[in-house]
Amino acid sequence: VPRARCQAAIVSVGNELLFGQTVDTNAAWLSRALADRGISVLRRFTVRDVEVDIQEAVSAAARGVDLVIVSGGLGPTPDDITTASVARGLGLSLTADRQGVEVPQYAQLLTNPVGTAPGVLIESGQTTIVLLPGVPRELEAVFEGDLEAALADLAGPDAGSVHHRVVHTTGIAEPMLADAVQERLYRGANEYAAGITLAYLPSLRGVDLRFSITDARGGKVEERFDRLIEELNPALVPWRFEAEHGDLAEAVATALERSGRTLAVVESCTGGLLAKRMTDGAGASKVFVGGVIAYANKVKVAQVGVTDEMLEQHGGVSEVVAKQLARGAAKRLGAEVGIGITGVAGPGGGAGDKPVGTVWIAVSVDGVVESIRTHFKGDRGSVRERAVQAALASLYRRLMFERTED
Ligand code: ATP
Repeated sequence: VPRARCQAAIVSVGNELLFGQTVDTNAAWLSRALADRGISVLRRFTVRDVEVDIQEAVSAAARGVDLVIVSGGLGPTPDDITTASVARGLGLSLTADRQGVEVPQYAQLLTNPVGTAPGVLIESGQTTIVLLPGVPRELEAVFEGDLEAALADLAGPDAGSVHHRVVHTTGIAEPMLADAVQERLYRGANEYAAGITLAYLPSLRGVDLRFSITDARGGKVEERFDRLIEELNPALVPWRFEAEHGDLAEAVATALERSGRTLAVVESCTGGLLAKRMTDGAGASKVFVGGVIAYANKVKVAQVGVTDEMLEQHGGVSEVVAKQLARGAAKRLGAEVGIGITGVAGPGGGAGDKPVGTVWIAVSVDGVVESIRTHFKGDRGSVRERAVQAALASLYRRLMFERTED
């Protein structure tokens, strides 16, 4: 009888998880590892190191699934009670093996190649219950070792793995992006979209679209992603960028290198964040020459060449000053491209027509300066992060637009 697609649940055990002292990375890792093997996780529980709590969670987790993975509390110390609790909950007796490890009746031990506590596998009715050590390195080693073969049997030969493709966007809010994309999904792209699920993953830097498909028979997956994304592309192209690790700074560095230009920056309200982003990746020295943090007006004047008249007439947060910063960056630091950023990051300092979150960004390419005025929501950190991202996006689009016009 062909098995239906295998389904699983995860129980994480440990007081420290509920105190918030330890982040439950095991559950996330397990979800991904199971998905890669064609097993979907339906629910997760987190409980204290308390016998009844563990037993109740395991029995609730086991309902209707083929596999329950329990992580944590397997060690030899008295506070490690997972094995005994699960065994008693299932009505299984415990015996000590030669090493003194407590083993439930009928259980199979899974070798732990990097620690002391082995994993435990128990068949209980329709459900396989697996106990793994809490230390992430140990959990992963047991999973990828002895457990792997057992999972292959469970998932069956027809189970496919889950494939993902991510498209990065920046500069458009999630609801607007979703509108544009969904409309195309339901029209032309419909025929390619079958079986592909789409998740919108927003952050301060933009929205990633993650396409996923479970592939039962192998092959054609990449081609299907390509065709679907091609269909959606008109809605994505103004916002989309390509970078291996998803960082727009990486995409900007590549675009600069292709165009044979270098970049210098002058930052006021972002205090060096843009320079940091540009230098986060190795190899930035090919395209990034450096920057000035022109926070005080006297630095804008003396170091970058902003004029006193403009500061007096328009104020530090203004289009003219942003443009002078961009031009000054390129000229003073010797680069073809200059970026200038000036704004009100907050929480104080906003007034009248320049409320908190107002940021002017200017980009000079071969002496031609373009500027944008933006208004970002959020706290000081968010405004600065968004401003840097918007500056990178402006430059990226200028370089890409110029390329398509070649
Ligand atoms: P062992 O005794 O073999 O070291 P154990 O199963 O007893 O393993 P725990 O005592 O539950 O493991 O946890 C040991 C450490 O592992 C914790 O202090 C914590 O740092 C980490 N850890 C436990 N559970 C998780 C989890 N769900 N996600 C990430 N880290 C975890």
